[in-house]
Amino acid sequence: PLGTLIIGTARDVTARRQTEHELMQAAAVFSSTHDGVIITDAAQQIVAVNRAFTELTGYSEEEVIGKTPEVLRSKRHDAEFYRDMWSMIEATGHWQGEIWNRRKSGEIYPELLTISAIVDPQRKVSGYVGVFTDITGLKRHQEQLELLAHYDPLTGLINRRLLIARLEHALQIALRKSESGALLLIDLDRFKEVNDCFGHPAGDELLKKVALRFKNRLRSSDSLARLGGDEFAVMLESPVDARIAARIAGDLLDTLTDDISLSSGANVNIGVSIGVALFPDHGLRVSDLLAHTDAALYEAKREGRNTFRFFSEQLTQKAREQRRMEQRLRQALKNDELKVYYQAQMDLASGRVIGAEALVRWLDPVEGLILPERFIGLSEETRLIVPLGDWVLQTACRQVEAWARAGLPPIRLAVNLSAFQASQPETAGRVVEILTETGFVPQALELELTETALRANQINQVNLFVEMQHLGVTLALDDFGTGLSSLTTLEKHPVDALKIDRSFITALPGDPTAVRITTAIIGLAHTLGFRTIAEGVETKEQLAFLAAEGCDACQGYLFGPPLPAEEFAQRYLRAA
Ligand code: C2E
Ligand code: MG
Ligand code: MG
Repeated sequence: PLGTLIIGTARDVTARRQTEHELMQAAAVFSSTHDGVIITDAAQQIVAVNRAFTELTGYSEEEVIGKTPEVLRSKRHDAEFYRDMWSMIEATGHWQGEIWNRRKSGEIYPELLTISAIVDPQRKVSGYVGVFTDITGLKRHQEQLELLAHYDPLTGLINRRLLIARLEHALQIALRKSESGALLLIDLDRFKEVNDCFGHPAGDELLKKVALRFKNRLRSSDSLARLGGDEFAVMLESPVDARIAARIAGDLLDTLTDDISLSSGANVNIGVSIGVALFPDHGLRVSDLLAHTDAALYEAKREGRNTFRFFSEQLTQKAREQRRMEQRLRQALKNDELKVYYQAQMDLASGRVIGAEALVRWLDPVEGLILPERFIGLSEETRLIVPLGDWVLQTACRQVEAWARAGLPPIRLAVNLSAFQASQPETAGRVVEILTETGFVPQALELELTETALRANQINQVNLFVEMQHLGVTLALDDFGTGLSSLTTLEKHPVDALKIDRSFITALPGDPTAVRITTAIIGLAHTLGFRTIAEGVETKEQLAFLAAEGCDACQGYLFGPPLPAEEFAQRYLRAA
């Protein structure tokens, strides 16, 4: 606006056909502005400058009067630049732009300059007015913004934006030269735990130290970026083959073998999972490449962490399917699409229903009934099993308790517990809470765990078995006979019952091996004081065999499939 004001005034001045002297007076009006002002005649000889001009350039008025503004020229612009500038002024009477000039001291600085031609009523140019602002500060500010836009302030590494820009470039070069580069996505394992245990400043310190270890391992031509949170990425520019990429991924894993010591005195051992994809083989576009590397990372995480995985098409399909399923399952939990079905457990001696196993079902509005084999494994990996397991236990306890209150014959309730749940110290407390909340008698609850869950419990600071025994909750070992446990090692655990795996029962009574194993399990279990429950009994012959061997209880299609609560009550409890 200041520029326009000056130009307007200068025009008024010329409109009255003023002399150079009067032009100088006009300039004096603006001598108090912070903008430098130069007034020249038609031959571009300086006739006046203001005080700000002297302050900004270091030249006094006497030093420049009669000279052309060329005294201020830096060598930053070529002749063409000035030619363009002047042809613009000739054509339009006006030019504005950024220009690098030189102060008297020799220092080069950027300014925003506006030049306007002063024309008389005959449309003849009688002089020029230049108004300029020193934009050194502004420039510096812009550079800082630029820096912020491309670098991660915590680690000083490049950020996602700059990495993507470099990837785009590298991908083109790789394509042109028919060479490969590689992209590695790196995610710290259990970083959240560090943050939770030691606090965010410690988490930040750890990230910086991890970044440094990576950086020391890489060449300066490799691009190491922090994408955010605990995610890093490395772009290895071509030529890089799968072997080299694998070696570097392995080396990066190795950099974290030694503990990282934090300033608080804590020593932290952190692992990483790495996904690797080669370009252009695994993606012609940056977005595809990123998605594919991400799929490989997901797989690395799934496969036990502190490892790396390469991308493959098959792997992506799997990862995609899993993610879709995971999202759907989350929704299902929220939208109440899960149901608990109940399968009867019969006492062989009395022929009565003595219990029910709670088995979760997913009633998808589109797909219909989905069986647990399709989502229990996934929910373990994604830890959704915790809310899911809680929900099943709560729903089943509430249901069986409601039946007892309604005067129906009391039954034992069996609920499955996954390996991940067995490994979590919170599980015992959750069981207590749910029992209290629902008023369910602990003695009537049996938790079913597999041998895997048994081993998983060993890493838990809480011995779930002992805790449950204190409460009076019983424990059954599910799918027994398929794992590695021997009956004698079981003695160490307070297990109450063994569920003989369906695979043996199905083969009865024709298969001699199945006969031998079943007979041995029942015999030894009784010697050691465990109850036995046969799973998957489908025929009368199987039932007769089990009864003859002295098996305690049976469960299977012979007595009925898992049923929704109301149908179960109708069929087994009300009829009784
Ligand atoms: P499981 O605990 O061994 O459950 C027995 C499975 O055998 C059930 O499959 C049941 O429907 C099936 N079954 C019962 N009788 C017969 C029969 O006579 N013939 C045949 N062919 N199958 C029979 P389902 O309901 O599909 O559950 C599969 C597994 O999913 C369960 O095996 C259990 O490990 C897991 N699961 C189910 N619900 C839950 C849950 O709420 N939490 C957890 N953690 N796991 C669950
Ligand atoms: Mg079970
Ligand atoms: Mg089973």
